[in-house]
Order: sequence, then structure tokens, then C-alpha cells
Amino acid sequence: MLYNSPRYGRFEWWLKLHALEKLPDDKVLVLGLDSTPPSIIYNELKDELPNLSMLMEETHTLRSSHPPITIPAWTVMLTGKTPGELGMYGFRHRKPGDYGSMYIVNSRDVKAPRIWDLYTKAGRSSIIVGVPPTYPPRPMKGYLITDFITPGPDKAYTWPPTLKREVEALIGGQYQFDVPFRVADKDAIIKGLWDMTKKQFKVFKHLLKTKRWDFAMIVQIGVDRVQHAFWKFYDPTHPRYPGEGNKYEDVIPNYYKLVDELVGEILEVIPKDTKVIVASDHGAKAMKGAFVMNQWLIEEGYLVLKKKPEKPGIDLHPEMVDWEKTKAWAWGGYYARVFLNIKGREPHGVIDPEEVPGFIEELKKKLMQVKGPNGESWNTKVYTPQELYPDVKGHPPDLIVYLDDLNWRSAGTLGWQSMYLEENDRGPDDAVHDWIGIVYYNWKPGIKDETIDINNAIIEALRKT
Ligand SMILES: [Zn+2]
Repeated sequence: MLYNSPRYGRFEWWLKLHALEKLPDDKVLVLGLDSTPPSIIYNELKDELPNLSMLMEETHTLRSSHPPITIPAWTVMLTGKTPGELGMYGFRHRKPGDYGSMYIVNSRDVKAPRIWDLYTKAGRSSIIVGVPPTYPPRPMKGYLITDFITPGPDKAYTWPPTLKREVEALIGGQYQFDVPFRVADKDAIIKGLWDMTKKQFKVFKHLLKTKRWDFAMIVQIGVDRVQHAFWKFYDPTHPRYPGEGNKYEDVIPNYYKLVDELVGEILEVIPKDTKVIVASDHGAKAMKGAFVMNQWLIEEGYLVLKKKPEKPGIDLHPEMVDWEKTKAWAWGGYYARVFLNIKGREPHGVIDPEEVPGFIEELKKKLMQVKGPNGESWNTKVYTPQELYPDVKGHPPDLIVYLDDLNWRSAGTLGWQSMYLEENDRGPDDAVHDWIGIVYYNWKPGIKDETIDINNAIIEALRKT
């Protein structure tokens, strides 16, 4: 609850983090399962995951960050700060004062200390594998392999830099950071996922066995990828579920079993008194469809194009837009980001700064009235960053929009027949992110709340060791 409260100020956050400078004496291991929802691990597959289940001494659900997106969410968990304080609103950020340019967030954008930085400061050693965002690798005490945003295995992806050669010798080839998952060839995704996951755990296990460490953490992005690529085959409530006995219905369970086996191998090489935390950064649920945000803005008269797009799936390029008549435009994603064309801020701004609050109210009201394809009511939520965070740094969107509470994703492309698409405009994708993830411990930190805010999921537990 506190996390969502704007009154919960910066000083308290700092204190929380500072309190962690008294670090636990025991070794701490964090197993990060990107995107795991409580339903899968606490219910549906619990009995089939002996190693992951064995660690469930104290279990909680986890309330993700605003927005519940991988890069900000893990950073919130590891710093105790909100995305606003971190200036981190997703995978991509818009370059300010520019209609077309964007940049991908990387490790240099993390300005607050993450937990392993506190260990470094205390002269203690960490092993970090795949935690978003850690590319490019930055100095720390210990050993680090970068995350899924790493452009490729030819780049420098380790700390210390010499570790790369050791990794390549160990796996006998190239390391793998991610798997293309929005592609039609499902069998290729499966192969990629299994290869990647085995390699990443092999490296993690090797480091745990051969290096000195006090804090260790791995984030397995494959969980997020398998869910995006195979959710509709697994979840009978998915609107496009192909039916029982479908070819891919066991891919998600089998992937979790693979992770469980690999976790079992990890548990064999760590001391028995290690404090183990298993956490996800957000949950997942069926994607109902994609809503074409920019077409909606066009229909409402807020976005004006110079000419109609000729075919479906065209990206909104700045040169297509009549900026003198445009008040707002949007980006796609699991949540929609809306940007306003403000005088003095954008190159061809049209909204007077003093008209902005009124315009935001108007837009919010209209967005919250958007209905589904069959006229059904949606539970759409719209926020300004200022409403969500005690401080708003970096390059936030002007509005953060959760279409039907994330059940619908936002499509940023144009030229579609309808505003409601069955599929993601970026390629096949069956799942969206959800607010509630998991966190559990192999000891009892005695946290009272059933649901823990993501910023506390590790920090509060470690304070209680
Ligand atoms: Zn994630």
C-alpha cells in the first residue's frame, strides 16, 4: 500500500535502503523468475516443482511497480525506489523534445545503489547473472553476467572483463541472453529457451561453486518469454485457447520443470544455511487483444495525419503527422504511454502549458470511457507520473494508461481496419503483464502483509535476518 501512496516520501525510502547497510551475515541467494504469477507456482504446478516448492517457508504475493514492466520492476526491487525516483518507466524512453527518437534503458541509467552495490561498499562479494538492466557491465566487487538487453555475445558482458573467456570455455561456445519470442516458429522458441536457460544456470552454478560470494542473484527471462509465446496453449480461459490436448499445452509446465531441475542443481552447491528468496517482478495473464491507441487518438481528433496510412501495421513516424494540429500521440506496449504536444516543450507544440491540466482531465475522462469491441465496459486506469511517484525524474510519458487494467495491450501502429486487434501488432504474443507476482523465502522473515510491495520484497526480508 505504502508504495502507491504519494505521501510516502524520499527520506523514508532512503532510510529503508540505508537500513540495509547492515547486511545479513548469512549468504543470500535470490532466484528471479521474470513474470511468474502466483497461480502457476503456488497452485497449478506446485506439486510438479519439488525444488522450488521446498523453499516455500514463508510465501507472499508481490505487488509490482507502476508500470509492471521488467526493467523498472527489478530495479525497484533492488533499490527500494519508485520508477519515478529512478527515472525508469519501461524498456524504452522517449528523447525529450524529439518526436521520433527513443533510447533503450541500460545499466548507466540506474543512478541508485542496488543491493549488490551495498555489498561492494561493505567489501563483500556478489554473483549477478541476468539481472535487468546490467548491460553494459559496471564495476562491482564480485562477478557479473549482463542481462537480456545485451546486444550480443560479441560485446563485453562480464565483470570483471576477463570472466568472459572463462564463461565461453565453460559452455563451449557463445553465451545467450534472450530468445526471439514473438515469432511464428514455436519449435524454434522452445529450442532457444531450453538452450539459453541451461547455459545461464550452468554459468550461475559454476560461479557459485568456484567464487567467493555473500550475495547472489539470477533473473531468468525465459519464464517471461515462455509465457508470452505459449500462454494461449496453456490457459483454458484465454480467448484463443486451441483446446485440450493441443500441441503446445505442456510447454509452460515443462519449462517450469526445467527451471526447477536447474534450481535443484543450484541448491546442491550452496551452503545449507543460505537465505534463499524466490521472486518475480510482476505476474502474467491472458492478453485479450491490442487496442490501437493512435487510431483512437485520430478518431477523437487529437492526432492528425498528413495522409492516411496505406497498409496496416505502419509505425507512426514524425513526418506523417501534422504537428500543428496534433495534441497527443501514443506508444504501444503492455501499457500505453501518451505524450502531449506542448508549446515550448515540443518542437511544434500546440497546447499552452496552462491548458495542460485541463487537457489531461479531458483525455483521462475519454480514455476511461473507452469500451471493448462488443461494447463491454473496461476498467481502464490513467495516471500522470506525478500522481504515482513522490518524485518524477528522467523522461516520463505524460500519461500512463492501463487499458482494461492491462488485459488489453496498446498497439502503436496505424492503418488497421479496427481499433481492436486479436493479436499483438508486434508479432504473436499471448500474455500481458499483471500486477501480482510472487515472493517467498526459505526461512520465516515474519513479514505480516500477505501482499508485499515490490520495493520491500528483498530489502525488508534482509532487514529481518
Ligand atoms: Zn518482467
